Amino acid sequence: MSDSPAPSFLLPQPDGDSEPFWEGCAAGELRVQSCAACGRRRMPPRPMCPWCRSLDHTWAATSGRGTVWSFVVSHPPLLAAYAAEAPYNVVVVALDEDPSIRFVGNLVASADGPLGEVDPATIVIGEPVEVCFGTEVDGVAMPRWTRPLPMS
Ligand SMILES: [Zn+2]
Repeated sequence: MSDSPAPSFLLPQPDGDSEPFWEGCAAGELRVQSCAACGRRRMPPRPMCPWCRSLDHTWAATSGRGTVWSFVVSHPPLLAAYAAEAPYNVVVVALDEDPSIRFVGNLVASADGPLGEVDPATIVIGEPVEVCFGTEVDGVAMPRWTRPLPMS
């Protein structure tokens, strides 16, 4: 039997359009691109505004807060690294500042926790969540989602 490398998770491949987003994640900020001409936010990042066709844009940090807009529970067959963590949730989060901006990620109990640590039966559409960032892997910090701590 040969020694094969441990299975790994798929990582994003930042490019010229998305690099500011990933730099924000590394800095602990969830950044969104906005059109410099009409002001509308857009995600995923791209060079041209889909509404006014301007090529000028800006980046700004968001609150990192949103609500669960939808979710699924993943089960095998999956890639080996993911199968080891199944079943786990994949949530779609609508950003508080602009609910038309949605992120796909995982609802976790802690930034570096396993994908399956939140019982999917407890997830509620519309529940508030906030972004967190796990430890960088190969220079990429992935945005993930946690439940806000209760106010005391
Ligand atoms: Zn525009």
